[in-house]
Amino acid sequence: MSFRRVQVLPEHLANQIAAGEVIQRPESVVKELLENALDAGARNILVVVKEGGKKLIQVVDDGVGMDEQDAVTAFLRHATSKIASAEDLEAIRTYGFRGEALASIAAVARVTMKTRRREDDAAVVVQIDGGGTPRVSREARAPGTSVMVQNLFFNTPARRKFLKATNTEFRHIAEAVQRVALSHPEIALTFISDDETILDLKPGTLHERMLDIFGQRQVEAMVWAEEESELLGVRGYVGKPTFGQKSRANQYLFLNRRYIISRNISHAVFSAYENLLVKGTFPFFLLFLTIDPHRVDVNVHPSKLEAKFEDEQHIYHFVSSLVRRTLAAHDLIPTLSVTRQGDDGGEMGLAFTRRQHAMGNELVNPITGEILAPGSTSYERPEHRDGLTMRGHDGAEIAATLLGAEKTEAATTASGFEQLAGKGSPSAIWQLHKKYILTPIEQGLLVVDQHVAHERVLYERALRNGERHAQAVQQLLFPQTLQLAPADFAQLEELLPHFEYLGFAVNVFGRNTVMLEGVPADLASDMSANIILDVLTLYREYQQHKVVDARDTLAKSYACRAAIKAGDVLNENEMRSLLEQLFACTMPYVCPHGRPIALKISIDELDRRFGRT
Ligand code: ADP
Ligand code: MG
Repeated sequence: MSFRRVQVLPEHLANQIAAGEVIQRPESVVKELLENALDAGARNILVVVKEGGKKLIQVVDDGVGMDEQDAVTAFLRHATSKIASAEDLEAIRTYGFRGEALASIAAVARVTMKTRRREDDAAVVVQIDGGGTPRVSREARAPGTSVMVQNLFFNTPARRKFLKATNTEFRHIAEAVQRVALSHPEIALTFISDDETILDLKPGTLHERMLDIFGQRQVEAMVWAEEESELLGVRGYVGKPTFGQKSRANQYLFLNRRYIISRNISHAVFSAYENLLVKGTFPFFLLFLTIDPHRVDVNVHPSKLEAKFEDEQHIYHFVSSLVRRTLAAHDLIPTLSVTRQGDDGGEMGLAFTRRQHAMGNELVNPITGEILAPGSTSYERPEHRDGLTMRGHDGAEIAATLLGAEKTEAATTASGFEQLAGKGSPSAIWQLHKKYILTPIEQGLLVVDQHVAHERVLYERALRNGERHAQAVQQLLFPQTLQLAPADFAQLEELLPHFEYLGFAVNVFGRNTVMLEGVPADLASDMSANIILDVLTLYREYQQHKVVDARDTLAKSYACRAAIKAGDVLNENEMRSLLEQLFACTMPYVCPHGRPIALKISIDELDRRFGRT
């Protein structure tokens, strides 16, 4: 093929090419027309589609409308009333601003726009077929604008071929409508597809809108999150982890009420659910970010679906910490319910798998894998004096932590447990099969797995102390000299700062030798033997599962090793103290590996089971 001369493309061709960026499928048309209606200040919007938008898309609004000149100019490429200067582009406050949508749509479809301003007597009708010259006429019509788009891509057969089945295109459109419905609950919105009313939404609050769209059950599984800083505001709903979704579909992020996709912010939310969700499920969330438009650039993507933030890191931490705190502040204890079978909500307590947790309940020597006889590490019932644990002659001691170490903290922050228990402290507390702690609470019966509960307490405490440089180190009376295999030694050296962070005093003593001089004060004294090696072994085991934060994984390994085990006998004070400390934790509902810690059996459930209702 010989080269032709360079020439500027005729406008209709340029528009068709540009349309490829903005209008990918019927959904894009719906989205752009809805944005125009919103920008026009509509209070009522009607969306009508036929055959998944392939045959017809019509959006009718009661917004400000246009006069004849604007109605024609609006179809020119880069014709917009929303920005006029480079400064305007720096702070976008409207959904549209590129002036491309109408030109693009008209380039690849048959478009009829009818528009009337309140002050005019009649509506202007502008018709354009595949980018041709507009035909203008007049017609009687209520104020507002109606844009009808027929036979999308009729003049671009290659693109028409790429349209999917009616059903698929419909689903995309429904999503676009739903996003606007959610971000604008104050607007009445009707959506009709192939003569069937899909949505007919009255104006209302966000909560009401959510109920209309998702239904009661789903909305009940969400909790409200809200926080503001100088830089940004975040508010919206996050789903309880028990309501994990099979896909990422129900993740809504709005930036200044514009629906956006942001891997970074989504990840921030996701990270807050770390270990709370059953593997392979995703959180449901709907969050509105409010940021000064000067601080974001929404002009980085032709369909304005992405944005660039000035302070990405800050936003990440802000969102993730808000979600984390919100989740922690709610009662996420799953209720054991036998009657609600077939309920796909996936009750956390039942759905959890026992992944990653080989040595949780059994007394397994992590080095040899040998199962220890119950007597070998089980504790004698310790004696108490003023609530403090006494060390038995055999070194038996239910971790100092359960009673002594942070008594004051537990006492001041026990409100979480007291709240759960109802008025006053619980009347009774039992240990079941040396594994579970049972206690009556306001709603029924609380069942707690003692090992994971303690693990959670130790894990959070170790990290918190480290963060505050307030490690409570208990000096060993007889420092242990450890000879390590070269690989273990290398790993230990690498992790040394983290060990110290958690409250270990370890010194390198020479090639492949270290001296353990102190251990975290939480550690029961008889547990310090082999602790370094055991923790290293666990660390490696946990590390295999995913890319990890070394310090966090080490803290988990330590907590798992140091926590009381199934088979340890606890007395009443120890159990009570454990529960108090547990519910003073930031996340008392799952252990650091994601296993549930507590379960509720509600009185309602019992009543039902016994035929009392
Ligand atoms: P943009 O929205 O980026 O400005 P569009 O091509 O979508 O570009 O629209 C061009 C112009 O047409 C808008 O700036 C607006 O002034 C006008 N317009 C479009 N749709 C409507 C509507 N539904 N009501 C009132 N004015 C509209
Ligand atoms: Mg627009």
